[in-house]
Amino acid sequence: MARYNGPVCRLCRREGMKLFLKGERCHTEKCAIEKRNFVPGQHGKERKAKVQAYGLQLREKQKARRYYGILEGQFRTYFEKASKLKGITGDNLLNMLERRLDNVVYRMGFGTSRSQARQVVRHGHILVNGRKVNIPSFQVVPGDAIEVREGSKTNAGILAARDATASFPSPAWLEVDRDGLKAKILQQPKREDLVQIQLNEQLIVELYSK
Ligand code: SF4
Repeated sequence: MARYNGPVCRLCRREGMKLFLKGERCHTEKCAIEKRNFVPGQHGKERKAKVQAYGLQLREKQKARRYYGILEGQFRTYFEKASKLKGITGDNLLNMLERRLDNVVYRMGFGTSRSQARQVVRHGHILVNGRKVNIPSFQVVPGDAIEVREGSKTNAGILAARDATASFPSPAWLEVDRDGLKAKILQQPKREDLVQIQLNEQLIVELYSK
C-alpha cells in the first residue's frame, strides 16, 4: 500500500505539535517542533490558523491519521467500523487504532517509531499467540501474547530500539517483558492511555458524520 514518504517533521509542524514520527530524535532538542514550531512553507510564519469548524475537524482527523500512520481510505474504514460498534464512536475509533499490531510493537518499545515498528511486523519478526503475523493492521485483543520470534531475538534493530526506549512508560493495558522481548495484552486500552498527543476525537466524528 502506498505510504507518505516525505519529510515527517513537516507533518508535526503542520499540526503544531509533536506527533513522534521520527523515533529517538523526537525526544531531543533536535526535534523540529522545538526549533521552529510554525507551519511549513514560504509564508508559514505569517499564516493564521483558521477557526472555522470544518478546519478544526479536519486538523483533528489529520493529526490522528498522521500520528498512527494511516492513509485516508483506511482511516475512514476504521471510522465506519467504529460507528457500528456499541459505545462512543470516538472511543471505539481510538481503541481500534491503538490495538493495531504495529502500534502495540511500538508501545512495547521494539520500534522507536510507529513506522519502524511497522517494518518489524512486516518483516515477520513478531508472533501473536505463537503464530507469525506480518500484518501491521492486525487487531490484538485482551489475552493475546505478543513476542519477538526466536530467530529475531538477536536482531540489532529491535535490540537497539528496546534500549533506546527503556525509559518510556508502557501503557497500563500492556504487560511488557523487555528482557524476554514479549508482552501480554491485559485489557482493552482505556481512553486516558490512548494517545501521547492532545486529540479531540469528537471533532473527527463530526467531520465524518456530515
Ligand atoms: Fe520531527 Fe519527531 Fe519532532 Fe515530529 S516530534 S518534529 S517527527 S523530531
